[in-house]
Amino acid sequence: MALSPEPITIAIVEDDPDIADLLNSYLRKEGYRSIIAPDMERAREIISTMNPRLVLLDLGLPGGGDGLDILREIRIKGEVAVMVITARDSELDRIVGLELGADDYVTKPFSPREVVARTKAILRRMNGPKQTDAQKVVLGQITIDPEQRRVEVNGKEIQTTVKEFDLLYYLATNRRNALSRDQILEAVWGIEWFGDERTIDVHVRQLRKKLGSSLELTTLWGVGYRLD
Ligand code: CA
Repeated sequence: MALSPEPITIAIVEDDPDIADLLNSYLRKEGYRSIIAPDMERAREIISTMNPRLVLLDLGLPGGGDGLDILREIRIKGEVAVMVITARDSELDRIVGLELGADDYVTKPFSPREVVARTKAILRRMNGPKQTDAQKVVLGQITIDPEQRRVEVNGKEIQTTVKEFDLLYYLATNRRNALSRDQILEAVWGIEWFGDERTIDVHVRQLRKKLGSSLELTTLWGVGYRLD
């Protein structure tokens, strides 16, 4: 019997059983192994023991603290993708979520099909197309290794989120070119992206914070960015 590939595990951190069940059935239909965590404690347990590749994270959870605490904890652990689900549709929450390293977000009410489409897009980017010509890129003190999805500054590893890495790699492989925000959105976020262009700016800010002066990135006002 042929071995079927191990299904990808997705954690659904959501206390509303109707929403959790709905996401669960949509994701299972697509062949994912999804697990529901209705509270913070269960979420922590699943994330540490089940090795999910992606966490769908409701920010409003019972039991003290909120989903942002979970997001912080996941980000410390390394490369697990996080899609934030929030009823709080304010710009602040979006930016806070992205600055804390969410890879995407949806606001309630959402369509489960949209969540599934975005989930696929995130996972596709994480898995890469494993191009054999994916070369390490060296930009002065910065080394970007697309095989290992690893960024180093002067030999010291810098943790990046899935999107931060993809953005940096895209800028690096197109360096010395003026790139419009539209071009960047399409290349890094894909056509499934429903958000706005400020997302790029938020991610650029994070990259600047993490990489400091070694990142020679020029903002082209009203256009986009150019990496030198
Ligand atoms: Ca909730």
